[in-house]
Amino acid sequence: MEIHLGHVVTPSSGTDATPGALLDIPRGAVVTDGPVIVTVGPADEVVAGYTRSAASPVVHDHGGKLIVPGFVDCHVHYPQIGMIASPGEQLLDWLDRYTFPAEARFADLAHARATASFFTDQLICHGVTTALVYSTVHPHSVDALFTAARERGLRIITGKTCMDRNAPAELLDTPETAQSQSAALLERWHGVDRLEYALTPRFAPTSSDAQLEALGELADSYPDVVVQTHLSENVGEIGWVGELFPDAVDYTDVYDRVGLVRERSVFGHGVHLTDRELDRLGSVHASVAHCPTSNNFLGSGLFPLAASLHTAPGLRIGFGSDVGGGTSLSPLATAGEAYKVSRLIASSGDGDAVAPLSAAELLYYSTLGGARALGVDAHVGSLEPGKDADLVILDATESSGNAVLANRAAECTSTEELLFALMLLGDDRAVDRVVVNGVPDAPR
Ligand SMILES: [Zn+2]
Repeated sequence: MEIHLGHVVTPSSGTDATPGALLDIPRGAVVTDGPVIVTVGPADEVVAGYTRSAASPVVHDHGGKLIVPGFVDCHVHYPQIGMIASPGEQLLDWLDRYTFPAEARFADLAHARATASFFTDQLICHGVTTALVYSTVHPHSVDALFTAARERGLRIITGKTCMDRNAPAELLDTPETAQSQSAALLERWHGVDRLEYALTPRFAPTSSDAQLEALGELADSYPDVVVQTHLSENVGEIGWVGELFPDAVDYTDVYDRVGLVRERSVFGHGVHLTDRELDRLGSVHASVAHCPTSNNFLGSGLFPLAASLHTAPGLRIGFGSDVGGGTSLSPLATAGEAYKVSRLIASSGDGDAVAPLSAAELLYYSTLGGARALGVDAHVGSLEPGKDADLVILDATESSGNAVLANRAAECTSTEELLFALMLLGDDRAVDRVVVNGVPDAPR
């Protein structure tokens, strides 16, 4: 039994899918028993209760630092961590120039293992304890990531990226091998500890109809598994999809007609979706991973989060870093960028103005909203009894090494202001400690 004392701030699953309410306990306690949270409440009450009991718990007093839920990254490519911040072109050129050569290096198992090790260490450094991740076309890239994640106790969902056209020959599989290799990996890893498999066609342009149908068959055999792919990221991409799939109603229909649009289908970006597409996605509670640093970096456009939810209330939305298109693994940086995108949309003055995202909403989409988008909110996303013991201790004081943040935080008069400052100014330096599945990481 361990007690973590500090300023507890968490979304609560008692609120509906539209966020805004936070549980805010300035001097709070989170009690963990192995990998599970057993109590959350005011520190004085919780500590008094446990000190009277026979087994004395280990107490970690984090002072005035924030205790928030482990962050959820709904869209990230681990093979691209080494090519993050490669300058340049829009999506399709960028894939050819940087992404495909980086992924081709994963034919080397040693490279895959080293990258998986570095990537999972960095997730923890940035406070991410749950992530939906793309591997490469090579099955051993999936083994490498799952192995590294399992060693660290992380909740990771990943799959072999499937591509059978419009990519370099060395990165192509076929409809048959996409299906058989995905099935074999799923059988090996799905449900092991905190690991889950995700069916992972990269995006429509790199899969033939036959490959999408083969993955649709697999999805039909495993109705509960996550499906991840990209959707409606960039205007040039959407035009290309229209040429490649002339019989489809629209981009969403390319996936829908083979059975890949359903609950726990997580679509990266969704920047330019039509009302018909939003309606369809919302009707089955499919998910969009909003990746603002990537969309801004590649000039893909502004995801209209509030308007999308207005059109499709059933849609589930979480934040994704989309590294290497995204420019930071930090959920704080992603949230800060999501704020700026919402600010630009709110200021665009189309007559139906919506407010930019609040700090509470930004925290929600970084945690519980993301967990709902991945269909893992029964386990993670908020600090509540019965959920996995994934905690992030956030430090906005001088000891973080971020003097500008500390200087600003000292002037904050509310929890919302402090969260906002952390998101606009913070990065991995603000992550003081991380508890992954009940196990605190080493002090930094
Ligand atoms: Zn992506």
